[in-house]
Amino acid sequence: MKEKDCIFCKIANGEIPSKTLYEDEMFRVILDLNPATRGHALILPKAHAADLYGLPEETASKILVLAKELAVSMRDRLHCDGLNLVQNNGEAAGQTVPHFHLHMIPRYVGDGQTLGWAPGEATQEDLEEVRAVMTRQDAL
Ligand code: AMP
Ligand code: ZN
Repeated sequence: MKEKDCIFCKIANGEIPSKTLYEDEMFRVILDLNPATRGHALILPKAHAADLYGLPEETASKILVLAKELAVSMRDRLHCDGLNLVQNNGEAAGQTVPHFHLHMIPRYVGDGQTLGWAPGEATQEDLEEVRAVMTRQDAL
């Protein structure tokens, strides 16, 4: 299903041209216009889902299989030294385009990119509180 005015729906379905690396019935893989590194690609499902919460299970289960194939291809063809998968959900997490996409960011020794987070601190009580919330039988 396409969403009116969604730029990634239009790209995924070929209405707006893109540098496409791969396409099948369910996905289009494109190069990011503002790449973090050489080869930065986005896996776009063709059917609109704003984020991971709304992603159909079949799409969710197939996307990592595709990501794995692309990862091998990036390693072998771009000769990257590493690879980050990034997937943002919600503005608070840095999502700027509200159509689910999985970033594949090849990494090169000395590429100067900074991805990641500042390690925080948690007490055993903090960890236990989260564990209890997340494993409550009525919550999942
Ligand atoms: P996010 O911040 O996770 O929502 O990522 C959105 C990504 O889409 C950014 O890395 C942008 O550079 C990229 N982007 C936005 N518009 C386009 C476009 N028309 N073609 C390719 N990449 C795009
Ligand atoms: Zn869309």
